[in-house]
Amino acid sequence: MKKIVMKTPLVEMDGDEMTRVLWGWIKEILIEPYVDLKTEYYDLGLVNRDNTEDKVTADSANATKKYGVAVKCATITPNNQRMEEYNLKKMWKSPNGTIRAMLDGTVFRAPILVDGITPYIPTWKKPIVIARHAYGDVYKAVDGFAGEGKAELVFTDRNGNEKREVIHDFNSNGVVMAMHNTDKSIASFARACFNYALDLKLPLWFSTKDTISKIYDGNFKAIFNKIFEEEYKDKFDKAGIEYMYTLIDDVVARIVRSEGGIVWACKNYDGDVMSDMVATAYGSLAMMTSVLVSPDGIYEFEAAHGTVTRHYYKYIKGEETSTNPVATIFAWTGALAKRGELDNTPELTAFAKRLEKATIETIEAGEMTGDLVGLFKKEGVTPKKLNSKDFLKAIASRI
Ligand code: NAP
Ligand code: MG
Repeated sequence: MKKIVMKTPLVEMDGDEMTRVLWGWIKEILIEPYVDLKTEYYDLGLVNRDNTEDKVTADSANATKKYGVAVKCATITPNNQRMEEYNLKKMWKSPNGTIRAMLDGTVFRAPILVDGITPYIPTWKKPIVIARHAYGDVYKAVDGFAGEGKAELVFTDRNGNEKREVIHDFNSNGVVMAMHNTDKSIASFARACFNYALDLKLPLWFSTKDTISKIYDGNFKAIFNKIFEEEYKDKFDKAGIEYMYTLIDDVVARIVRSEGGIVWACKNYDGDVMSDMVATAYGSLAMMTSVLVSPDGIYEFEAAHGTVTRHYYKYIKGEETSTNPVATIFAWTGALAKRGELDNTPELTAFAKRLEKATIETIEAGEMTGDLVGLFKKEGVTPKKLNSKDFLKAIASRI
């Protein structure tokens, strides 16, 4: 068979532990036999990040800016225990955080739906994609204890003029907090959401609590509305999709009653909480994809889960593991399909869609990894647990 030719390389960011093992197998079994794979390879495994003083992470983000599409394997974020385990020079920052900051991106998470794995909310027939603003609010807040006395919010402009407002006059002990965001970051978030909704041809819902937080959340609402009216309204009309702003309480109620098929833009904290709720309700973290989209349309695809450490320790002892590769496969297919779209190589995009279909059909036929077996219920199909490699081969047989 003639292999599919790629015009532009993908930026390939390799990673750690069990997902690094799966990474190699996915390429070998599912991609390289069909595609003349062109990548610019960056090893973001912890050993190489330590060896390069984490320069490799910045290099990979710069390459992503240059080429426009990257695929990333899960990576270890070092903590004290990893410092010892890997004898690290420094507690390097989370690569995802570094890449997100360099691309100024928004993270979109979407579940992969399979017939036989029913969401806990059975009316959800289509994916709910959560877009989480990844800057500021409570994650960059300053907080502290207060005793008897007056807490004030003070703003000093560059000329030294002060604006003060009493937060609370305390007669007993309490707590205070101040947080911030910037118009620039909110605007980037808004554009990333509008672009992504257009890409997926799905409606976009954005929610805050602006009835209570009139200035802070009101500012989010106003920036979204202005950018929508000035830059996106016509495109949305043409695509036949709508943008809706409403209160977060209202969206929660609407989401639960919906069929799915929505991009839900959330402020930082809301996105943190709601993405875990939505992921769990769809069944499994191993079936959740994640894509970072920059405001100028740069894409980085990955799985939402981590490096699956517990399985890796079994693997290095020579034991078989049944680690689920689906989200990592979909990171690859997402990146290949996007590359095909940008390069005008429809055969590459078509291959990516075929691989996704083969993956879903394999599970629907009852062949799956251990984490899914307990969740799977389909008339006339008895789920069978395969190890990771046999599962990949079962997918290959259906491409
Ligand atoms: P994790 O790797 O997602 O795994 C947590 C547990 O979830 C696993 O032990 C496993 O449960 C289950 N699981 C997750 N993915 C699975 C899969 N593909 N197939 C089957 N089961 C799966 O999270 P973690 O243990 O908290 O973190 C491990 C490392 O990953 C950490 O060093 C962390 O820094 C890193 N991490 C990286 C990213 C990223 O790069 N995006 C994200 C999160 C975490 P059982 O053990 O019960 O089978
Ligand atoms: Mg969370």
